[in-house]
Amino acid sequence: MTKKAPIRTCIACGAQGDKRGLIRFVRTPEGDVACDASGKAAGRGAYVCADAACFAQVRKRRMFDARLRVKVSADDYERLQAEFGALCEMREAAQ
Ligand SMILES: [Zn+2]
Repeated sequence: MTKKAPIRTCIACGAQGDKRGLIRFVRTPEGDVACDASGKAAGRGAYVCADAACFAQVRKRRMFDARLRVKVSADDYERLQAEFGALCEMREAAQ
């Protein structure tokens, strides 16, 4: 039996696949949200395009709260945006 690859969808714009590279965020066992650089961390996850515009949407509409069923504070969004930005740069540098 082959394992079906899950369809990855950006929670902000709805784009599927990883053409532009989706970045995964995961709910940690502590109830935080973390940027999942490996994309393999266990737990409920959400994908966002490696695009600042998409993250801005997520932040503005506090989309992690609903998607990951966790309370994410404004400070956390600030921190996640910084992590997201750093990861986007790393990915671009690696290409
Ligand atoms: Zn997107």
